[in-house]
Amino acid sequence: MVGRKLFINGEFVDSNEGATFESINPANGEVIARVAEAREEDIDRAVQAARKAFEEGPWPKMSATDRGRLLRRIADLVLERRKELARLETMDVGKPLRDSSKVDLPLVVDCFQYFAGMADKVMGETIPVPGKFLDFTLREPVGVVGQIIPWNYPLLMAAWKMAPALAAGCTVVLKPAEQTPITALELAKICQEAEVPPGVVNVCPGFGEPAGAALASHPHVDKVAFTGSTAVGKLIMEMGAKNLKRVSLELGGKSPNIVLDDADLDEAVPGSLFAIFLNSGQVCAAGSRLFVHEKIYDSFMDRFLVGAKKIKIGDPLDRETQLGPLVSAEQLEKVEIYIQIGQEEGAKLVLGGKRPDHPALAKGFYFEPTVFVDVDYRMRIAQEEIFGPVVVVIRFSDEEELIRMANSTIYGLAAGIWTTNVKRALNLAKAIKAGNIWINTYNMIPNQAPFGGFKESGVGREMSRHVMDLYTEVKNVMVYLGKGGVRWFS
Ligand code: ADP
Repeated sequence: MVGRKLFINGEFVDSNEGATFESINPANGEVIARVAEAREEDIDRAVQAARKAFEEGPWPKMSATDRGRLLRRIADLVLERRKELARLETMDVGKPLRDSSKVDLPLVVDCFQYFAGMADKVMGETIPVPGKFLDFTLREPVGVVGQIIPWNYPLLMAAWKMAPALAAGCTVVLKPAEQTPITALELAKICQEAEVPPGVVNVCPGFGEPAGAALASHPHVDKVAFTGSTAVGKLIMEMGAKNLKRVSLELGGKSPNIVLDDADLDEAVPGSLFAIFLNSGQVCAAGSRLFVHEKIYDSFMDRFLVGAKKIKIGDPLDRETQLGPLVSAEQLEKVEIYIQIGQEEGAKLVLGGKRPDHPALAKGFYFEPTVFVDVDYRMRIAQEEIFGPVVVVIRFSDEEELIRMANSTIYGLAAGIWTTNVKRALNLAKAIKAGNIWINTYNMIPNQAPFGGFKESGVGREMSRHVMDLYTEVKNVMVYLGKGGVRWFS
């Protein structure tokens, strides 16, 4: 078993109180690492290091172009180690190696490369104000940033948070999720190797309480960026209010995935399977409410169920595996409770709803692809985020009614629309209250496009140039170019 330490001020260190916790492999319940656990004093040490690195030392003097070079070096090192990192990710989260090697790692590399290019393209504007003035804006880094991330895409979420913040010139204290601390610490190692100056990046694994809360409420953190549940997002906003931190939140979802009667089922069926079962449904944007038009309901559902039955569950390190275990015993229990709730509410379970029987999988937190039909949109299983391989199917015929149902949750993260009619697609895209709409595709999140939620799915947009708004302050500079300017009191 490997011991892992906190990364503070450019060094790997023990936690102040010597506290540690175990990281578990969800495929077999085995401990894969003992990890130093950050508590309040450790978070404080990390924030102080980040503050010092932001105010003094090489970071504030480094040009944006050089920061870009550093990010490119990080991208290169991740690329070099992608195989090892993909394996570690799979062992820590349980996602199939196919996912971590073909989806997560390439996206992590792309993310650092994209923001390497962005670093020296963050610009202000010149503004034509009236009078003899020159007016322009500067974009300055917001300062010390606290970043709290979830366990579903541990390394990718670390990249999404760290890369734009560093490009902007901020310094970072990142707290990975307690279930999945390993690859973020590997990323810290890569930052060390890339010669990121001490204190600029700090990685402090620990629990929501006390580590996350200490970070979100620390008076010397200027901004907090959080990805996780809506319930915790609300707490983060409250904690941030103490010193009016800038707060950005990427939270939960219950996204509608809509199949219209003119959809091409050859695309809509596999696309809808991907929408919900990718990463065992542990995706904030998962298409977990499947709306199917009654005219094609039977033919679509027949094919959807055949496809869902074929998904290969197994050891995530096996290249053939398409669905791994859930991340933890707690998550498995949460999903099982929702199966019971769904049945009590009167929904009909037509697939899954249980752990697989195979003895080889008995020690892992596996759960079968699960489909509920005859679902009313007001049921709890259609309103609450389950974060597992569970889809609820709702039949519809009228498009106005569909829009009303699709918009009837507290969430507004994403939506999918499957149709061959461009007008219907675009009218629906406009009517649905969500930050990300996918037409004839799903779960596509390129670096170049903004991502984030309406309503209780979040605040702010990550990725693309929009994310730079989250990590910069706008400073307006006004210069008088005339003669005899202000004569108010003379
Ligand atoms: P999930 O239910 O998916 O685990 P959470 O919102 O609980 O999502 O967790 C996401 C991240 O938020 C994790 O890093 C977790 O440690 C952190 N977290 C949980 N509770 C708190 C809290 N009270 N304050 C700050 N961070 C928290």
